[in-house]
Amino acid sequence: MESAPMAEAQKQMKISDEVAIEIRGMNKWYGQFHVLRDINMTVQKGERIVICGPSGSGKSTLIRCINRLEEHQSGQIVVDGTELTSDLKNIDKVRSEVGMVFQHFNLFPHLTILENCTLAPIWVRKIPKREAEETAMHFLRKVKIPEQAHKYPGQLSGGQQQRVAIARSLCMKPRIMLFDEPTSALDPEMIKEVLDTMIALAEEGMTMLCVTHEMGFAQAVANRVIFMDQGQIVEQNAPKEFFSNPQSERTKLFLSQIL
Ligand code: ADP
Ligand code: MG
Repeated sequence: MESAPMAEAQKQMKISDEVAIEIRGMNKWYGQFHVLRDINMTVQKGERIVICGPSGSGKSTLIRCINRLEEHQSGQIVVDGTELTSDLKNIDKVRSEVGMVFQHFNLFPHLTILENCTLAPIWVRKIPKREAEETAMHFLRKVKIPEQAHKYPGQLSGGQQQRVAIARSLCMKPRIMLFDEPTSALDPEMIKEVLDTMIALAEEGMTMLCVTHEMGFAQAVANRVIFMDQGQIVEQNAPKEFFSNPQSERTKLFLSQIL
């Protein structure tokens, strides 16, 4: 999957030497099940990281730990200078800086698109309604669906709903965006419009961690691809090297199955 916007995207993006996310010796269990094993990972601001790996390898759990939708049991996770501990203040601070987009868009069906985008800014951030609406319209224009603002989610296609979910996240002005298989519930013809939205975000310098099996996206936009298997980071590399010269047998097997 090669396209002009993707080729353009890669050239323009800069990575800062500041750290956005630092994970050290992190482990997580679900009951007896050791789901994440000794995860070490540093993400610089402006990095676009694609995380891939077989189903059940712990990809969702890892990114859910980064905004504390899941709790880790040992090791350290530091997001933009704030360590994730059981301190609620820290969790709130990190959640306000980290946006997340899921496979299923999780829009509120009884609220309009505009209301979906202004709900958290008004009630969590205490932003005046008028200002929240202006911000929402700004991001709805960015994801190219301002004309849908007064419709309800059920009246939109899956691709449009996912773009709303991205706009809704951006309305909270996050510094980091996490994506968990954002296109895997979409029909093929809608995948590109969502990927194009993500490319635009990458071009603006957003720090992004994307769990996705869209390897065209990984090759064009990511500066690093991380491969996970059985709760571990098995291998990571720049996309070109990752795809042309995978090191481990597990990575080779995975790539042979999806490419
Ligand atoms: P992936 O996103 O790579 O498919 P997940 O992070 O969703 O993997 O899941 C990793 C493993 O943890 C799987 O074996 C899954 O069944 C298990 N798991 C996920 N969520 C829970 C949970 N809430 N309780 C117990 N086990 C879970
Ligand atoms: Mg998952």
